[in-house]
Amino acid sequence: MESPFKIFVDRLKKEDRLEIHEVVSPDFLDVHEEDLSFQNKVIVDGEAYLAHDELILHLAAEAEALIACAICNERVPTKVHLEAFYHAEPLKQIKGAVFDYQELLRESILLETPEFVECEGKCPKRKNLKKYLKSEESSLEKTSDAEGYKPFSDLELN
Ligand SMILES: [Zn+2]
Repeated sequence: MESPFKIFVDRLKKEDRLEIHEVVSPDFLDVHEEDLSFQNKVIVDGEAYLAHDELILHLAAEAEALIACAICNERVPTKVHLEAFYHAEPLKQIKGAVFDYQELLRESILLETPEFVECEGKCPKRKNLKKYLKSEESSLEKTSDAEGYKPFSDLELN
């Protein structure tokens, strides 16, 4: 797939700055997990310019992830905002005068993607979970340690 995220440095030498407005398929994020995937187009806005011997990138992006609810496993559409992302790339590291920021953008969006979500901010099925909990966190700890897996360790049960 041809990257839509290329900056041609030679062009920037003639113009002051390059405006970036891209609306692209989320395919480049390349995450297709059961509990995390992306839907809808990714919107990228920003600008690029040269300063001394560096290419400067200012970017903002908006994506929409589908993340499994930590309680009931329903897929929750979750907006991911990348705000005021800043990157400086030394010109001498840019091969062939083309800088492709796809991987940079991808990693930045994934870093902004929450690890845990709940539907509607507080899953309605949370109360069903409660009856399986005998005595608060101590019993949780035991089960988790035994299995070496802590799916609910981040939850506050109230
Ligand atoms: Zn839920």
